Amino acid sequence: MENCPEQPPLFTFGVIADIQYADLDDGYNFTRTRRRYYRSSLQLLRNARESWLESAVKPEFILQLGDIIDGFNKGHDASDRALDTVLAEFSSGPAEVHHVWGNHEFYNFSRSALLRSRLNSTLHIDRTVNAAPADRDIYAYSFSPFPGFTFVILDGYDVSLLGREESSPLYKDSLSLIRQHNSNEDLNCPVFEGLEQRFTMFNGGYSKVQLDWLESVLTSADENKEKVTIVSHLPVHPRSTTPICLAWNYDELLSIIRSHLCVVCFMAGHDHDGGYHKDKDTGVHHLTLKGVIETPPDSNAFGTVSVYEDRMELRGSGRVKDRVFLFPSRLQDTDQRAT
Ligand code: ZN
Repeated sequence: MENCPEQPPLFTFGVIADIQYADLDDGYNFTRTRRRYYRSSLQLLRNARESWLESAVKPEFILQLGDIIDGFNKGHDASDRALDTVLAEFSSGPAEVHHVWGNHEFYNFSRSALLRSRLNSTLHIDRTVNAAPADRDIYAYSFSPFPGFTFVILDGYDVSLLGREESSPLYKDSLSLIRQHNSNEDLNCPVFEGLEQRFTMFNGGYSKVQLDWLESVLTSADENKEKVTIVSHLPVHPRSTTPICLAWNYDELLSIIRSHLCVVCFMAGHDHDGGYHKDKDTGVHHLTLKGVIETPPDSNAFGTVSVYEDRMELRGSGRVKDRVFLFPSRLQDTDQRAT
């Protein structure tokens, strides 16, 4: 086989998850099994930013997969200060940032405050976005960074006990749903069995309004032969994460993904141990990115993704592994080139 010169990517982008910065000494996770490096996470974000700045092909955008600051900031009256600190780090970076919302955003801020904040990327990027219905306070939108490619940011806490007023119908529906599956007094404690473990307060789901909007985005992407990457804080494939971190109605989202040819990849955070699974029916890649917050100060946790006509290549740093995501063969050009 001939040694072909390396093709440049069409474009690249950066990914980073679960920074959970706080100006606090190290602590532990909920079950006290994993160390959390609250202060050091800022330095790890800085390492990511420097790497993206120095890369030969500058990233077109950065995906911040949620939980940008830790919930502990709230109790120290430090939410705004911590957010300023991490966003200052991002603002000196190489590209626009698409912020995803996780549970820790809601520990610090109300939904209405988040919609007005710098974490609402639709207000702060120059690019045209296609947003979810404006009559509902859902934070979901799509954008196209390059012809033929679409990215969809989803709101994993649209149906949730977090960020919803206790008097609202959405809160009441969420409470009754979670109560059908979780009998613990503390709803942050999962039940012990299988997929039911996902019904905790730190997870959430996607409303019918949001799923209908997603359907319409994917239908038009199918028609236009786009390649779509969906991004959410919560993973939706049970084999890409521990069940404790799955979205409540992961199955509904999975069946929508499976019914459209255009989806090539689903990216999430939330599960700090990360995970990966290629859906055997569709060839869609489900990546759960390892979290910065549980990454030791002498390591790293971010990635740079190079996008080509037929694949995406994730170059991981530190705990994030390199991976190649070949686009499903149903999307490939039938024209086979000789090698
Ligand atoms: Zn989370």
